[in-house]
Amino acid sequence: MKVNKDKCLGCGACASMCPVNAITMKGGKAEINKKKCIKCGTCMQICPVSAITDEA
Ligand code: SF4
Ligand code: SF4
Repeated sequence: MKVNKDKCLGCGACASMCPVNAITMKGGKAEINKKKCIKCGTCMQICPVSAITDEA
């Protein structure tokens, strides 16, 4: 999963929905810890601006 930081609004929705707490907010942008991520896709679905994609 990858965050497009130009699109990310910093709303925090993805971070609060991630089942394994792989997303942290840094400098007002979401950041995904790839070691923790289980690729469930929840963050992709929840993001209001489609800033998260499933590319590596
Ligand atoms: S794909 Fe799932 S596990 Fe990975 S960062 Fe998104 S919500 Fe968290
Ligand atoms: S849900 Fe989307 S806009 Fe909101 S913090 Fe996550 S990546 Fe950024």
